[in-house]
Amino acid sequence: MLVYRTFSELRKYLDQMVLLGKTIGFVPTMGVLHEGHISLVEKSKLLCDITVVSIFVNPKQFNMAEDLEKYPRMETEDIQKLKENYCDVVFIPSVEDVYPDGLKLPKVDLNGIDLVMEGKHRPGHFEGVVQVVGRFFDQIKPNKAFFGEKDFQQVSVIEQMVRTQKYAVEIVRCAIKREVSGLAMSSRNIRLSAEGWHKSVLISEQLIWAKENFGKMRIDQIKTAIEKTFNDDPSMVLEYFEIANEENLQAIQSTDVYARAFIAAELEGIRLIDNMAL
Ligand code: AMP
Repeated sequence: MLVYRTFSELRKYLDQMVLLGKTIGFVPTMGVLHEGHISLVEKSKLLCDITVVSIFVNPKQFNMAEDLEKYPRMETEDIQKLKENYCDVVFIPSVEDVYPDGLKLPKVDLNGIDLVMEGKHRPGHFEGVVQVVGRFFDQIKPNKAFFGEKDFQQVSVIEQMVRTQKYAVEIVRCAIKREVSGLAMSSRNIRLSAEGWHKSVLISEQLIWAKENFGKMRIDQIKTAIEKTFNDDPSMVLEYFEIANEENLQAIQSTDVYARAFIAAELEGIRLIDNMAL
């Protein structure tokens, strides 16, 4: 497996591969890799000749300095995991290489997708996501890029960016990988205590409960019941629970074929998100 740390080294290699007619699959990550990330790598390997995984904790997508500081990092283990899973290239750039002085970052119209849920609760988050992914797309020019539905709103934002900025890349959505308990896998989970792991089950349990009751109860009743369940346990703070249209991510009040439930909660100071098709 090749390890590159600058865009110029990576580009030199990719230019050779493109000359040989190889297709490029790209998997952007922030590291501390788990089976969720590896499922994206596997999909890329299935659909593309060369798989490039980036590891970059993007400062621009953190709206709180403390969250960025506490974000876990495990570069050596990540490289080993990628090797074991036959990844072709890992790209670990510096902040200076991604955002050199004087770089002009485009403002992208996200059609309101960025104003609800994660966008509303983390101001500037999606602007940062669009900037880093746009920069990677400009430099790597992948044929396909792989994103997990764990961050469902993020994939919608990226698809919108690809449409408005006319990137020649196909976005491939990948299903959420979960722990046996139901908890959606996340790099942040390693910061949970044993008790936290136990408590975190509530998040996926509530999504399943919403799925079971969708169509049987009114949406506002489902929302109120879930909010009450969280309020009854002060160790977990519900940031939002929303039932939204999968296409435009706007909240819905009546049964919609493409409805999805979204949740964000804080447990032991760790922000956890999850979602489920209803
Ligand atoms: P992150 O390192 O958290 O920025 O995630 C990198 C990519 O992996 C994103 O496209 C995520 O949506 C995806 N991902 C993270 N966790 C999971 C999961 N549990 N299942 C599927 N994809 C995931």
